[in-house]
Amino acid sequence: MADASFKNGKKHNPDGTVCTIVKIKETLSSNGNTKYTTTLWSDNTYSCNCPGWAMHKRGGERKCKHTKASAACNGADMVTPGSQHNANLAAARSPLTPPPPRRVAIR
Ligand SMILES: [Zn+2]
Repeated sequence: MADASFKNGKKHNPDGTVCTIVKIKETLSSNGNTKYTTTLWSDNTYSCNCPGWAMHKRGGERKCKHTKASAACNGADMVTPGSQHNANLAAARSPLTPPPPRRVAIR
């Protein structure tokens, strides 16, 4: 079984279909030095760039603890790449930026 290849932020399946990113999840490694990105693709498959994913033996279903965790909740622990970026920006700015004066309903 040929593996999919990953180029320019897209997944190229062996059958010729090209998938785009739907959601991502970033996880800090246990020593805190590396950030792994788990990706949910438009064909509803997952990939990861951690050593567990990279070293998984060929032939079986490819997975790691990150893709397993995300698959178990159907990607509920993941975010769209844009909202992740905005959330990080908001978190980085929050100590300096006072909350907006007007009340906003949060759903
Ligand atoms: Zn992983």
